[in-house]
Formats: sequence, C-alpha cells, structure tokens
Amino acid sequence: MLLGAHMSISGGIFMSLERGKSIGCQTIQIFTKNATQWKVKPLTEKDIADYQEHQRETGIRPVVVHDSYLINLASPVHEPHEKSIEAFFIEMERAEQLGIPYLIFHPGGHLGSGEEEGVKRIADSINRVYKRAGGFSLKLLLETTAGQGTNLGYSFEQLAGIIDLVHKKESMGVCYDTCHTFAAGYDIRDKSSYNKTFEEFDRVIGLERLKVFHINDSKKGLGSRIDRHEHIGKGMLGIDAFRLLLNDKRFKDIPMILETPKGKEMKEDIMNLKILQGLIR
Ligand code: MN
Ligand code: MN
Ligand code: ZN
Repeated sequence: MLLGAHMSISGGIFMSLERGKSIGCQTIQIFTKNATQWKVKPLTEKDIADYQEHQRETGIRPVVVHDSYLINLASPVHEPHEKSIEAFFIEMERAEQLGIPYLIFHPGGHLGSGEEEGVKRIADSINRVYKRAGGFSLKLLLETTAGQGTNLGYSFEQLAGIIDLVHKKESMGVCYDTCHTFAAGYDIRDKSSYNKTFEEFDRVIGLERLKVFHINDSKKGLGSRIDRHEHIGKGMLGIDAFRLLLNDKRFKDIPMILETPKGKEMKEDIMNLKILQGLIR
C-alpha cells in the first residue's frame, strides 16, 4: 500500500518531501501555495529544480496537489467565478511545472443557484481551463465531499454528472475522501457495506477513475453531511473500515493520504501511519 500524509511546504516546496521522508511517507499531498490566499508568486526555476532534486532523492511518488480553499468553480456570481477560474488555472500550471500528476479539488458550492446549475458551471469551468491548458499531462481529481452547505460532490451521481459534461474525460479522476464520503451517507464500516459502496462507485463512476484516497476518520456520523476529520480509528468510521481498505488488493497502487488533525510537529501523522501499517495483513 502507498501510505502518506499532507505535508507543509513551509521553507520551500521541496521541504514537504523532506518532512514526508522523515516520517516514512511513500506518497504526500501538498499545497503549492498558501491555500487561504489568492495571491501567489510564480515558481522560479530554482523552486522547480530544488523540488525535482528532492523528489529524486527521497523517492516519494506520487506527490499530489490540493488546490486553494478559496476557489469555487460552481459560484453563480460572475466576479468570484472568474477569479476562481483564473486561480484554478494557476494551480494547474504550478502542478504541471513541478511534474505532479494530480490536482485534487472540491467541485464547488452552488450557493443557492441549484444543484443542476452548479454541476453545469463546474463542468463548463473545467472545459475552459483545459482549453487553455492544451498540452498539460496533469489530471484533475474531483474530491468526494460531505455535502456541507451547498457543496456539490456528495453523491457519486453528481461526480459522474460533472465528468459526463467535461470534454477531456480522459483527464478526469476522483479522490475518495473516507471522512467526507461517510458523512455524505456511504457506509464502509463492515464487509457488506464496504462492498456495496465500492460496487456503487464502480457502477456510477467507474473504479478506474479512482486515483487517490484521503484517509481520514470522521467525527460525525453516517449521513451527517458534516466535514470533521478525526484520527484513524478514533471516529465514527472506526478501525474496521480502514482494515478493509488497506487490505483491498484493488487499491494497492493507489496513494492513501492522511488529512487528520495535527500540530506543528508530526507526532499525530506518525501515530496514524503506524496504526494504518499495523492493519495490513
Ligand atoms: Mn479536500
Ligand atoms: Mn480530503
Ligand atoms: Zn474534509
């Protein structure tokens, strides 16, 4: 299994690789910029060279990117929507420059304009950025969401609906967040619910589109539609769900990345990784 965690880029993007290596990550997720700010300085040649050198040295692969939290491709309001598209393109460009294969993003919130309208606006936005991103080899991964507020992406049908409207379908994939999907109402706590959920994923979206797992326990219950991450085995999902996932041979080459709560040090990541390692038979 390919296990890792979200890593800070404080001190330079390449530092995320050193941090990941220091706690035994085989894969990591990063932001390539401050996730709570719009503005960003372009990457320099040195940023890119440092990153690539450290990636070679650490052997961490793949590295995946998560986009900024400010971006909302479903926004019905003209100005923030345009701003989101511009910022999203920059996210794509930065990931591509670094040679990163996947950009993970939350589909977006329709803010009262309706779900169907929101799904269309997300797909239109993706079509626009891909038009501009001609030769990019980057894939875009829609993240499954808890469906908090007006956020879309809480049902497999909605994600499939977005992909269906995107022209460059071969570049679309899905990131399955175990906390979000459980909060959205998909159970995986025992063998039979686990099988049912992934059968449904396969039927509606296709397992071949599943490229990354975010591996988080959930503070809130099944169908709560509330997004609160918890340490592995300490939440409402519970340890058995993770045991099933970590021993599922279909997913042995799919990065599984922790986004569990943590402080400045990485003690919590070390603890969660150790728990996950211990589940593998
Ligand atoms: Mn996310
Ligand atoms: Mn996530
Ligand atoms: Zn979340």
